[in-house]
Amino acid sequence: MDTCRAAVITEHNKPLTIQQVPIPKLDPGSLLVKITASTLCGTDVHRWHGPLSDGDTLPIITGHEPCGTIEEIAGERTDILGNPVKRGDRIVWSYVACGSCYYCTVALQPCICPGRASWGHNRSDEHPYLLGSCAEYMYVPPECLIIKVPDEVSSASAAASACAYRTVMHGFDRLGAIKSTETVVIQGSGPLGNFATAVARDHGAKQVLTIGAPAARLEVTKRMGADAVLNLEEITDPKDRRKWVCDHTDGRGADIVVQVANNMAVPEGLTMLRDGGRFVNIGAGGNANISVRSLPQEMIFHTIRSGEPRHWLQAIDFLASRKKTFPFEDMITASYKLDQINDALQAMASYQVVKAVINF
Ligand SMILES: [Zn+2]
Ligand SMILES: [Zn+2]
Repeated sequence: MDTCRAAVITEHNKPLTIQQVPIPKLDPGSLLVKITASTLCGTDVHRWHGPLSDGDTLPIITGHEPCGTIEEIAGERTDILGNPVKRGDRIVWSYVACGSCYYCTVALQPCICPGRASWGHNRSDEHPYLLGSCAEYMYVPPECLIIKVPDEVSSASAAASACAYRTVMHGFDRLGAIKSTETVVIQGSGPLGNFATAVARDHGAKQVLTIGAPAARLEVTKRMGADAVLNLEEITDPKDRRKWVCDHTDGRGADIVVQVANNMAVPEGLTMLRDGGRFVNIGAGGNANISVRSLPQEMIFHTIRSGEPRHWLQAIDFLASRKKTFPFEDMITASYKLDQINDALQAMASYQVVKAVINF
């Protein structure tokens, strides 16, 4: 076996092609993983539509949310908890920060390391070829930390932990404790919004209010623990949405706002936050002119990028330990095969599905 099938972007906005891509020789400490599921993310759609600002060049294998079983290990490896891993183990694995720059060594903020390695945007015609998740196999560089996936977590949910869910865990990690008296507003009812709703509920908020659309997504949101939901398609005036939050909070506004929709939602989210509140901005929505008339007094504003290896572990732990409380599988709403990749991306691009998975 020297090649495997992969979904490759050869031209922006044009259908992806299924190509045979070389399987590389393993460097010491690296792994070859047979992919079991790859979930798709909004970023995959953006990269397909046009080059992102990070200077990627084509061809690339799309996808950066993989889960798979170990096919081969070059040498001995342990997981993030120090346990040995072996062929056949089902795993997810972290991105890799450089470990030697200012952000890695002094600031201890590896997610903003400029030399960080990540997947889904690497050239498929250059070694080690297999760094996108919509492929039968992926190469796992030696520096990656490995997280084993317990039996009670599906491959699709584990794959979603490799981007969406671990970023949410990072956000709540930075936010810190939520008091039992606090109201949390979640802006967004996609995979991040619904997962954030569950985490806020679990972390002990007095009430969780989630704002999103369409109605079908909000039905999932309710099952994920929202005390109340607001449908943006029905309540179209931001003033009415702010009033809805105030009506639930004795007129003060929310103690915590978690924005996971898009940077454009930040100004509205700030109007929903009480003075002294905390704002967590997880939107990956790219550039936005964030213009506000005034900021809440004494607020704290966190912006979150990606996740550290421990957040992968936290997401997997949460999925496993809260499986009986939250219907996580309801968030994966459409399943495709690799050769249906164009249908899957199109469905994501048109918001027909909450989260699409490619099952192998
Ligand atoms: Zn992503
Ligand atoms: Zn670094």
